[in-house]
Formats: sequence, structure tokens, C-alpha cells
Amino acid sequence: MSEREAGRRDRLRATAAEAGLDAVLVTNLLNVRYLTGFTGSNGALLLRTDGGDLFGTDGRYTTQASTQVPDLELLVDRGTVSALAAAAVRRGAGRLGFESHDVTVDGLRGLERVLADAADGGTVPELVSIRRAVEALRAIKDDGEVEALRRACAVADRALAELAAEGALRPGRTELQVGHELDARMLILGAEAPSFESIVATGANSAIPHHRPDATVLRDGDFLKLDFGATVQGYHSDMTRTLVLGHAADWQQEVYALVAAAQAAGRAALAVGAEVTAVDAASRDLIVAAGHGDHFTHGLGHGVGLEIHEAPGISALGAGRLAAGMAVTVEPGVYLPGHGGVRIEDTLIVTDDEPELLTLTSKELLVL
Ligand code: ZN
Ligand code: ZN
Repeated sequence: MSEREAGRRDRLRATAAEAGLDAVLVTNLLNVRYLTGFTGSNGALLLRTDGGDLFGTDGRYTTQASTQVPDLELLVDRGTVSALAAAAVRRGAGRLGFESHDVTVDGLRGLERVLADAADGGTVPELVSIRRAVEALRAIKDDGEVEALRRACAVADRALAELAAEGALRPGRTELQVGHELDARMLILGAEAPSFESIVATGANSAIPHHRPDATVLRDGDFLKLDFGATVQGYHSDMTRTLVLGHAADWQQEVYALVAAAQAAGRAALAVGAEVTAVDAASRDLIVAAGHGDHFTHGLGHGVGLEIHEAPGISALGAGRLAAGMAVTVEPGVYLPGHGGVRIEDTLIVTDDEPELLTLTSKELLVL
């Protein structure tokens, strides 16, 4: 356990050394978890380029820290981040990296004050943003993370299969009822929590990409769009399936076939070295060619892991290339306002070979 986190800290250490930093103050809680294994609600890490890392938390977590982070020197202080910053000064940091995307304006002013006070007339360390350096490391999953994602996806697959087999997805029920049952079933099957508030959207609501389930009643002949996932060991799965209740009309079959083809094209474009913009285009071009470009109103996909949305973003506005070990979604949609919409989403792992599909529920149009 701690060996895995030590390897991650060494990778960040190499990045920090390259940037000429003496130490890095990691404050984003998920990044702290990734680098130390600590799962409490207050923790921060002072990573030093020449080793001798310091983990900080407050008195509520002394016991938990000694269990989860046994290999690091522990600093217990209610002002955790300030105490770590002061420790960085005492240990002679001249250039201190910090996570500018995680620190508020007030937090930054406080940090500057602490550094000046701790320097006590001496040289005040320079604060240097490391940007999203830890998030960049997190984008590439190791075997343990991929296994957690596999399990999270399997829970979601099974929850949907069981509800469908039991007839829980039938006309007369409400979106909220279905959403609650989906969440409850995932918990029974071993999820720590749903990945996010499950999206259950039927009829015209299915044309709203992120519709919140409400009292709308499922009706015969309507689309039923379900976007949901399970969290296992902190890792999130993400899957969307769109079904039809009773019978599928021609227009529904047409829209579904188009989105399914675009989704397959997006999956096929997931290759090591592929530009994320090219992956988005591989899928989107089919939808544009069919005249529905204006009805596909979001990016193609996103990374998943300790967060439901993380690097890399796969969209026309994205930047960068895919690498082996990235966990991503492919989720094109066509939404016809006032009418109905289809989205099909899988979670996959980019590999040197074919991508590994983790969400295994069938993508044939299911008529219930
Ligand atoms: Zn989703
Ligand atoms: Zn998604």
C-alpha cells in the first residue's frame, strides 16, 4: 500500500526537481490521498525534493494518519497548511511549489503571511504554481486503480441488469423511483456511494443532457436515459444507456443507430498517442454528417478516477494526447429538444492494444 504511494511521490519529486523547486505543498485532498493513502477530510503534504516528506493533519485524524500514512513524518496542527508552510521555511525551502488551482485568494494571502513570519527577516520562499502536476500523474492509472474501476463498473452493470430483469423500469413509475432504486441497488452490490446523482430522464426529459430525476412518470413508447455509476475504493464508474419502453418508433431507432455508430467510432479512436481533439472528431463527424451537429452539445468524454470528471478531457476544446493507462469515457449524444434524446456512454482503459471496455452492459437498443 504505502509502496505504491511512495512511487507516486517520487514521480512528483522528479517533476519538482525539474522545475527547480525545493519542496511542494500539496493541499488538494484527493491529491493528498493519491500521494499518501490518507482518506480523512483534512490532510496536506509537504513533499521535499531531497526527501524527508511531512504529512500534516489535525488532532481528529492522529490515529487514522498513523495507520494510513505510517511511513511519513507526522505533523498534527489545527492550522495544518500554515504549519506545513512554516516547516518548509524552517527546512530551508527557497522555492516552494503549491497547487494554485486549489488555493483560494484568501488562502494564498494567508500562506504569504505565514512564509514571511516564519522567515523572520530572512529570505521569504518564492511560491511557484505546480499547476495540475498531480492530476497529470493521476490521469495514468496503475493496475490497482484499473482493478478498482473494473469493480466499480461491474457494480453498475449488475445493478442495471437486476432492475431490468425485475421489471423495475416500466411505465407508471417515476424517474425519482427508478433513480433511488438504482442507487440503492449499487450500494447493496458493494458500492461505497453512487458516483454522482444518477440521471434518470424519460420522454422529452431525455433531450436534457443532465436532467435531474423528478416526478415525471415513465410512459409507453418513451426513451429512458440512465446515466449513473458506482464508487469502489474511491474510484468512479460512469455509464449511460438509453432504452425504449414498450416499442421503438422509427425516429427513435434512427437516432439510436446514429449515436451507437458515433459511440463505436469514438471507442475505435482511443489509441495511445491520439490527440483528444481527433478522438472527439472521430465520433462527432458522424453526427454532424447526419445533420445533428447542433444536437450534440457537449464534449465526447472525460477521464474518470478518484473524481468523476478528471484529466484528460476529450473534446474539441481539449489539448494533449492519450496515453496507455488512461481511464476515459466515450459518450456522444443527440438531443432533440421537446422530443427526446439518446446518449450512450462507456468507461474504457486506453492500452497499447485495443482499449479495454469496463462497462459491459449491451449497447443494442433495449426495448423493455
Ligand atoms: Zn455519465
Ligand atoms: Zn461521463
